[in-house]
Amino acid sequence: MSLDRREFLKIGAAGIVIGAFPGIAFASNELIPRKGQRVVIVGGGFGGATAAKYLRMWSDNKIEVVLVERNPVFISCPMSNTVLGGTRTISDLTQNYDTLKSKYGINLVQGEVTAIDPEKKTVMLANGHLGYDRLILSPGVDFMYDKIEGLNARVTDESIPHAWKAGAQTTMLRKQLEDMPDGGTFVMSIPAAPYRCPPGPYERACQVAAYFKTSKPKSKVIILDANPDITSKKGLFMAAWKDLYPGMVEYRNSSAVVKVDAATKTAKTEVEDIKAGVLNIIPPMKAGAVASLAGVVGADGRWCAVDFLSYESKVHKNIHVIGDSVSAALPKSGHMATTQAKICAAAVIELLQGNQPDQSPSLANTCYSMVSNTEAIHVANVFRFNAEKQAMVAADGGGVSSARSEMEGKFAGYWLKNIMSDVLL
Ligand SMILES: Cc1cc2nc3c(=O)[nH]c(=O)nc-3n(C[C@H](O)[C@H](O)[C@H](O)COP(=O)(O)OP(=O)(O)OC[C@H]3O[C@@H](n4cnc5c(N)ncnc54)[C@H](O)[C@@H]3O)c2cc1C
Repeated sequence: MSLDRREFLKIGAAGIVIGAFPGIAFASNELIPRKGQRVVIVGGGFGGATAAKYLRMWSDNKIEVVLVERNPVFISCPMSNTVLGGTRTISDLTQNYDTLKSKYGINLVQGEVTAIDPEKKTVMLANGHLGYDRLILSPGVDFMYDKIEGLNARVTDESIPHAWKAGAQTTMLRKQLEDMPDGGTFVMSIPAAPYRCPPGPYERACQVAAYFKTSKPKSKVIILDANPDITSKKGLFMAAWKDLYPGMVEYRNSSAVVKVDAATKTAKTEVEDIKAGVLNIIPPMKAGAVASLAGVVGADGRWCAVDFLSYESKVHKNIHVIGDSVSAALPKSGHMATTQAKICAAAVIELLQGNQPDQSPSLANTCYSMVSNTEAIHVANVFRFNAEKQAMVAADGGGVSSARSEMEGKFAGYWLKNIMSDVLL
């Protein structure tokens, strides 16, 4: 059964009865009556949507799946830097959830999860609650604005977009680049690792430079990187900046931004103040806030420790965490989130039947970066479960492209098409 908009509004109109569980205000109404074993998934991005689809497919539709997502549509972060470069628009990266509902029978609830009770196995939305047998969280990342004086969610929405969640901020950043006079400076910052998509910021610098090269050739790109060095595909990015955009891209390592002045578009590091024509601060990141609501964030206050056989939280039984929120020496990527989702879905099906999950999972990661309008580079690795270390460890082989090429640029487009189909169709 799927909850359509009319039913959704009807339930909402029924009102909220507070006080079902001590400490947490829970509405008394179950949003969707339960029929059998149920998995609730929070977050319909790369990880969550994939987990939903594969849980239904691999359980022969026996497990009821409810996917809760705040946004009405899926927007891909991968390739969103090309919106800044001008070769794609946000609508090229946007897809609806219709097939997940119609073909796989997933119950999609559009809304915000505001509380989770791990004891009662219940998640809370504004207009009711959902009980679960197992809960999967794939909430992506949230931003640690308190680490940069002068920055907050409102400032990023209004004038200094991070554009690190694809959507309105990506379009706003593109518009700011279009409005900037030739000869201006695009200043972008990169937070200390770990952060979502290690090569993404360097790809962004390439895409902005590609736009400047054709439309604003006197303009400059300055990268303020909090890391001591380029964190991914270093030689390939440096070659792209030197060969394709000579004199245009300036890279400064160990340059964490500590303060911004939104009015003057100035970024401040420990050693200098830099005034920008367009300012793009990518703040430090942590697990999506819903992980804190579930109490599954680890002692570092940022990421969630999991058992890599099932992605079950090390803190609470029956709650699994996948994707960017996971604490691991694994790249935080869409590709990684989808493969984790499949391992998690297979494990949840076994666990619900009283069986053990696969004891030797492996997963792959590939990440393309568009370094110009047509050329790309990639990194690819396989990771296998190491029982002694209780961790996913990189297998031999893998690595990065030998050189950028137009062929890889085409592969990057096919990769996007394939992964969007795998997640949503
Ligand atoms: C510019 C850029 C380029 C990138 N390029 C690549 C690439 O080329 N290849 C690649 O593999 N990866 C890339 N990535 C990384 C990729 O986007 C992420 O790693 C991936 O999205 C992580 O998946 P996830 O499921 O953990 O989170 P997401 O895909 O962000 O999904 C999280 C979802 O949870 C929802 N949510 C969160 N909290 C709640 C709540 N309380 N209630 C309801 N819903 C909620 C959010 O709305 C969101 O839809 C890129 C990222 C960026 C920013």
